[in-house]
Amino acid sequence: MKSRKIGIMGGTFNPIHYAHLLLAESAREQFGLDRVIFIPTGCSYLKQNDNIPSGDIRYQLVKLAIADNPYFTCSRIEIDREGNTYTIDTLKDLEKMYPGDELYFIMGADSLMMMDKWKDAQDIFNKCVILAAVRDDNELPDLDKRRIELTDKFKADIRFVQFKRMDISSTDIRNRLASGRSVKYMLPDDCVEFACLKNLYSTNFIDHKDDEDIKVYRKE
Ligand code: NAP
Repeated sequence: MKSRKIGIMGGTFNPIHYAHLLLAESAREQFGLDRVIFIPTGCSYLKQNDNIPSGDIRYQLVKLAIADNPYFTCSRIEIDREGNTYTIDTLKDLEKMYPGDELYFIMGADSLMMMDKWKDAQDIFNKCVILAAVRDDNELPDLDKRRIELTDKFKADIRFVQFKRMDISSTDIRNRLASGRSVKYMLPDDCVEFACLKNLYSTNFIDHKDDEDIKVYRKE
């Protein structure tokens, strides 16, 4: 059987927004991916001090955001895994779930700068192709230098995704929501309603623990 190309769009998604979606769709189209799996992080050891909504809530928001794209799915494997989230563990799980298929990890190119410090970086580069989106063409020379360094050191396969720059960030969305400003056109309407409805990112942040909570709050 012909191997499939599986895109992995990992992220804290706090919250998911249009740049995440466009990045995944651009990668899918340019590299002929058969599907893209969005994987919200579980416990992010680098963001432990951030006030991050539960995995269930971020998963629910991702599901709303990707609902109209038949190539996109969302997985709970990281939020259901105990302990800190590491990409290498996710790749091992996906290898078991999709034997013989090719894995493509999609990310912003900024992550290339630190990726060699990620847990078991060599194994990560062995197991997947990296698809990195360049936000600013002026950064391309530095990023290409970095690509070559990682290729030489880890035999990494890193390819750049052509990506229309979108100045949307989760941080900006959170700040806007906290100060009551509009986030319309930054993320799908269904997500806007969901986030505003429950004041997810207001100063009175409430951490909803599970899907049952979500169902209750969505009815209000
Ligand atoms: P995030 O903040 O939600 O962002 C998700 C991805 O979207 C990132 O690659 C980010 O790239 C990109 N992105 C966000 N806004 C963008 C924009 N306007 N234009 C283009 N790209 C944009 O998630 P994250 O916390 O960075 O985590 C990303 C993934 O890396 C997750 O799967 C996480 O588990 C993994 N990770 C793994 C380790 C490890 O295994 N040790 C360590 C750190 C992260 P930028 O990075 O360029 O912002």
